[in-house]
Amino acid sequence: MTAVDPNDVSAVHSESKVNLLGLTRLQMEQFFLDLGEKKFRAQQVLKWIHHAGVTRIEDMSNLGKALRDKLSAIAEVRPPEIVSQQDSSDGTRKWAIRVEGGGLVETVLIPAGNRATLCVSSQVGCSLDCSFCSTGKQGFQRDLSAAEIIGQVWLAINSYNAFGPGHNRVVSNVVMMGMGEPLLNFDNVVAAMDLMLEDLAYGLSKRRVTLSTSGVVPALDRLAGLSEVSLAVSLHAPNDELRNQLVPINRKYPIAVLLESCRNYMASQTDKSRVVTIEYTLIHEVNDQVHHARELVALLRDTPCKINLIPFNTFAQSDYRRPSGNAVSRFWQVLVDAGYIVTIRTTRGDDIDAACGQLVGQVADRTRRSERYRAMDDSQIITVG
Ligand code: SAH
Ligand code: SF4
Repeated sequence: MTAVDPNDVSAVHSESKVNLLGLTRLQMEQFFLDLGEKKFRAQQVLKWIHHAGVTRIEDMSNLGKALRDKLSAIAEVRPPEIVSQQDSSDGTRKWAIRVEGGGLVETVLIPAGNRATLCVSSQVGCSLDCSFCSTGKQGFQRDLSAAEIIGQVWLAINSYNAFGPGHNRVVSNVVMMGMGEPLLNFDNVVAAMDLMLEDLAYGLSKRRVTLSTSGVVPALDRLAGLSEVSLAVSLHAPNDELRNQLVPINRKYPIAVLLESCRNYMASQTDKSRVVTIEYTLIHEVNDQVHHARELVALLRDTPCKINLIPFNTFAQSDYRRPSGNAVSRFWQVLVDAGYIVTIRTTRGDDIDAACGQLVGQVADRTRRSERYRAMDDSQIITVG
């Protein structure tokens, strides 16, 4: 135990001002009501921050001098601190971000055609320790605040000087596929996703914001009815015996329970035509055989879904290997023959992927996260082999 508990940010920052960046519309309205101000001030401030990119309260010109002074005394707009930024020849941009109290996380923006998807982190490290994941190897450091999560969207837009009309063109899609398990940081992730969908903030459609989870079932059940974002589930194995080894949380919430929770989540959506994305990281001779694919077909029979195949990304502390092109192709074929829509990672952006581990240095995240994100883009249904 260290003298200051790094997970307890309230202890470190109890004296600091309220960071308006992370407040949802409802929270912002309450904030102004508590100040004895009118509710509509919330709309003005939300637009200043998320539409105009303004961080200086004194620049929020429609608030009036007295209110600006009052606000400045107790509140601020504090985006996360960028440690480094890296551009790939294919347009991919990555940032390492220092979060309050120490620790680094990574955010990646990858343009593809007329879209650009931002891969956002939710925690520093992760407690779930999936056997093929370098974030899991770091252990858990702490949850990101709502401001640190939505701040990743803010800083991506800001780095292109793109605030103003059409501000959400730079980031058209968001996937919660960076570091951490989003459902273990429930309130902050839900608040940040609210702001992604909120018209007074980023106004993204619910189809363009995706939460990826390894299967924290009670939290997923709680999300149903609360949120309308798209759902991706990290399955990675067609049976409990294998999934227990790869995704340890499966011992607590086995596949049948998880798939039922996914179906319930989809059933809770107003648009019944939406499906869950099943993520399946293919690992050489572990889960990439044709019999695994056939088992997966049978397993998913009752779950409306599309499947996202992710060839394993190697990293230093792992003995797992990437599957061969033929293995990926064979696996893919079985699923396609069974009628599934299957997306697969493309090979763009190798230059920046190679440098990924260096970018985040001490965080030692060498999983080439941008590749995982790219595999989420459903415009990229490609034929392999
Ligand atoms: N914690 C969440 C989201 C972050 S990880 C989750 O597990 O879903 C995003 C995706 O990348 C998950 O599907 C995860 O299993 C996968 N992944 C992690 N490490 C990987 C690696 N080394 N190679 C390929 N995919 C990996
Ligand atoms: Fe955590 Fe997801 Fe990595 Fe598993 S795959 S350790 S849940 S970040």
